[in-house]
Amino acid sequence: MRMVIALGGNAIKKPKEKGTASEQLGNVQETCQHIWELVRDHQVVITHGNGPQVGNILIQQEASEPYVPGMPLDICVAESQGLIGYMIQQSLRNVLQVHGVNKEVVTIISQVVVSREDPAFKTPTKPVGPFFSQERAEELRKGGISVVEDAGRGYRRVVPSPNPLRLIEAPMVASLLDQGKVVVAAGGGGIPVEEKKALCGVEAVIDKDLASEIVAEAIEADYLIILTDVDQVALNYNKETQENLDILTDCEAENYLEQGQFAPGSMGPKILSAIRFLRGGGKKAIITSPRRVREALLGEGGTQIVPHSGSQ
Ligand code: ADP
Ligand code: MG
Repeated sequence: MRMVIALGGNAIKKPKEKGTASEQLGNVQETCQHIWELVRDHQVVITHGNGPQVGNILIQQEASEPYVPGMPLDICVAESQGLIGYMIQQSLRNVLQVHGVNKEVVTIISQVVVSREDPAFKTPTKPVGPFFSQERAEELRKGGISVVEDAGRGYRRVVPSPNPLRLIEAPMVASLLDQGKVVVAAGGGGIPVEEKKALCGVEAVIDKDLASEIVAEAIEADYLIILTDVDQVALNYNKETQENLDILTDCEAENYLEQGQFAPGSMGPKILSAIRFLRGGGKKAIITSPRRVREALLGEGGTQIVPHSGSQ
């Protein structure tokens, strides 16, 4: 089977950690322990988030501003794909080797096409990088950068988060899968690019779950597996009436999404990705944690989202 496995932020950096190299590598190694059997048995593309990593790159840039020229956000995303891809390539290869599996892992620096017409460009909403003083915020604003006050914590740059349309490298990803390779792609949602006469980087970030869905459709994956820090999706999440969901159809998921059951910046895009994937021909979407993924794939855990017609 073909599948996309999307790794959530926790798979790489846990919220309370500083994010040292050994912490991050340790988390990636632990995640690989949970997924190596799937990687052995199936054609797998791994996607991942990059929020804390790209945030740290931006903080470094701000701190070294007088000495080293800062890079635009698209290049920072590319940097983060390299650093996270490296950790996954090495950790996964090591665990596969320990179990006698000779499967190569490769990271594709991934460009994802977005449209300038996307309404997200009119109202940038996604905060990224360091907190600024009011003075620095004013300075940045003069340079044409959108900066907002962030809940009394200081000023922060906000960037658009447009809808992903197409992964430029999708044919290469598909051919690597055909050759039996494991592919890390669309890291951090991919590098946002505009497709005019030529490709050109854009100052934006793309949601990694929506980008994972684009990849899954492009490679005609059977399954889209989204790994995060909860074992299951819930209704009335974090309330006394919380009810975990074992299985639901794309239509049920859409109804709950419209009712506001899934928070916009976190579970919302995962559910939307699942719906899009099933409507684009996918067989099943699974949302669960890394430790539950093996049983979830056997239909025995996590939250399974299935096509409406197939569920009857
Ligand atoms: P990731 O890095 O894996 O994308 P997110 O924080 O973006 O992580 O999304 C996962 C989070 O979504 C969970 O930790 C949980 O707090 C939150 N969440 C919001 N709504 C729900 C819901 N209805 N059911 C389960 N989790 C939810
Ligand atoms: Mg998220």
